[in-house]
Amino acid sequence: MSICVSAIKLFSGLNRSAKLRGTDAEHATASVNLLTLLLFSGECILGFMKNKKIVIIIASTVIVFILALGVFLQSTEQKEETRDESLVSQKGLHYHADLAIIVKGKRVDVPPNTGLVGGHNPMHTHDGEPNIIHMEFPGIVRADDLMLGEFFKVWKKDMRSFGANMKMTVNGKENTEFENYHMKDKDKIELQYE
Ligand SMILES: [Zn+2]
Ligand SMILES: [Zn+2]
Repeated sequence: MSICVSAIKLFSGLNRSAKLRGTDAEHATASVNLLTLLLFSGECILGFMKNKKIVIIIASTVIVFILALGVFLQSTEQKEETRDESLVSQKGLHYHADLAIIVKGKRVDVPPNTGLVGGHNPMHTHDGEPNIIHMEFPGIVRADDLMLGEFFKVWKKDMRSFGANMKMTVNGKENTEFENYHMKDKDKIELQYE
């Protein structure tokens, strides 16, 4: 009897200290200890059935660790969610990108309030600064929401309709992603046509 009790005490102590230190490896150790504890408890319970107090202690210990394991599993699930590579923000964002469209050496301005007429698109331009694309998204934002092609959809223009031989640079560097380019805050995007 006393061997069972001290084994259970030992394992619950190990579990508690592993959980307190909190690294993944220690969480795993805690889980293994928990399984061992459960086996011990099962064996001991048979011998302890007559002693209600010990049965209650064992049962509550097991319940506490099942709950702790649940919390641990939930926290690893949340970690995996933030590892999602396409996720840019969970709490919205407000980016600005400068878009210069140059056809045969001449600037073509994006009309002001593009995306704001008859609605409020998260991607839009404001009065007085037509070539700044505002990206004002609420909630969950994924990389594909920020594609340059999405802005041309809002504008209802074909990105390739401005002229021949389209070339694109982002912050001075040539870029061949074109419509599929994922815009970032403070980008300077230049589209050149002949
Ligand atoms: Zn705005
Ligand atoms: Zn803005």
